Amino acid sequence: MNSPQTLEQIASCVSGYDPNSLPVSQAQEFIARLVPRVTAVEMKPIRDVLGRVLARDIVSAIDVPAHDNSAMDGFALRGSELQANEPTRLRIVGSGLAGQNFEGEVPAGGCVRITTGAVMPVGLDTVVPQEFTQTEGETLVVPPRVLKAGDNRRLAGEDLARGEPALSAGRLLRPADLGLLASLGQAEVPVFRRLRVAFFSTGDELRSIGEPLDAGCVYDSNRYTIWAMLQRLGVEAIDLGVVRDEPAALAEAFTQAAGSADAVITSGGVSVGEADHTKKIMAELGEVLFWRIAMRPGRPMAIGRIGRNGDGSNPSILFGLPGNPVAVMVTFYAFVREALLRMAGAMPEAMPLLRAASTEPIRKKPGRTEYQRGIVTRAPDGQWQVRITGAQGSGILRSMSQANGMVLLRHDQGSINAGEMVDVLPFDSLL
Ligand code: AMP
Ligand code: MG
Repeated sequence: MNSPQTLEQIASCVSGYDPNSLPVSQAQEFIARLVPRVTAVEMKPIRDVLGRVLARDIVSAIDVPAHDNSAMDGFALRGSELQANEPTRLRIVGSGLAGQNFEGEVPAGGCVRITTGAVMPVGLDTVVPQEFTQTEGETLVVPPRVLKAGDNRRLAGEDLARGEPALSAGRLLRPADLGLLASLGQAEVPVFRRLRVAFFSTGDELRSIGEPLDAGCVYDSNRYTIWAMLQRLGVEAIDLGVVRDEPAALAEAFTQAAGSADAVITSGGVSVGEADHTKKIMAELGEVLFWRIAMRPGRPMAIGRIGRNGDGSNPSILFGLPGNPVAVMVTFYAFVREALLRMAGAMPEAMPLLRAASTEPIRKKPGRTEYQRGIVTRAPDGQWQVRITGAQGSGILRSMSQANGMVLLRHDQGSINAGEMVDVLPFDSLL
């Protein structure tokens, strides 16, 4: 991974760049320009590629389906022989089952019993579903006006024509894609290697679960939230624990993290009034910017690169997230998620938003993006409605846990009236 531009050069490409009051969209643009993509490709068995990123275009080498075939259980016939206003009578000359084709010619006035997926006998182009028909011995009776020529026949190549791109590089592979790959006979799939992401928490007040909770201390929750969010993204997550607020320990943690991973995520220690050493060590070991983002929660954030193994080449991308547990999640979803998808080689799609009516007024100042935790439900009239969960303090993780989505109030938006429509990011739609 090469990163030819300096952070200043990248910043100069972002219009209205102001590190002390950076709009969310500008921060996103900066990050998109900053992050490199993995290039290493590996071939993996099809069952191992769910959630992985496709590294090459997949072009179909065959027609899928390979032959015209029946879409119904019934009888294959010639559409041209259907009578317009009276029953059509045809002689049943044989049967074709899926996987066991009817071979040979069908004489004029003949038809073939056929099952779904069976290859259409030569010369026949229409399938009448069984339930529309009657049989009298070896004679099939089709009432008039129940179907027209060409009905219930699937054409060769209608799913995928030979030479057509089936899937494009950069696609995050989903269940349907695995089926599509299988339908092409593709046993092994070229995917980018998994992204490695190291993370740790900083702060002397933090205790890991399993340790006694000393006076004035809190359990480290961020590492678990971050671990969980990384699992959803399908990256390899490397947990480096809680790191003491001590220069040597921090330097060692950053060096180890950058040495072992494509990206490093830390939480805590990046706010303006921060007395600890995190910011200093970040700045010493790497090329790092400290931002104040025009958003709530999640104002402070560090972004940059940390060289691996002491040299500046092939750097790891640093995301220094704020310490507050809600701010960690919000900044992860606002910035890190998409950045990691890009780094993993994916073409990130915009996160699907829901439009919902706010049940109550919401106070909001223009000039910053707000992410308020909300509970989305169906109103009696079937419309989506959203209610803000109680206290919105950025330390109150329960507000996040109670919510099923985040109300996204845009940079320029002002206060919201009761009943007004707002954008909601439903958590269930997130990777
Ligand atoms: P900081 O950004 O380091 O000033 O931290 C802001 C707040 O978040 C403080 O109340 C910290 O105790 C809290 N905090 C920081 N890191 C964590 C963590 N890993 N788990 C839980 N709370 C944290
Ligand atoms: Mg701290």
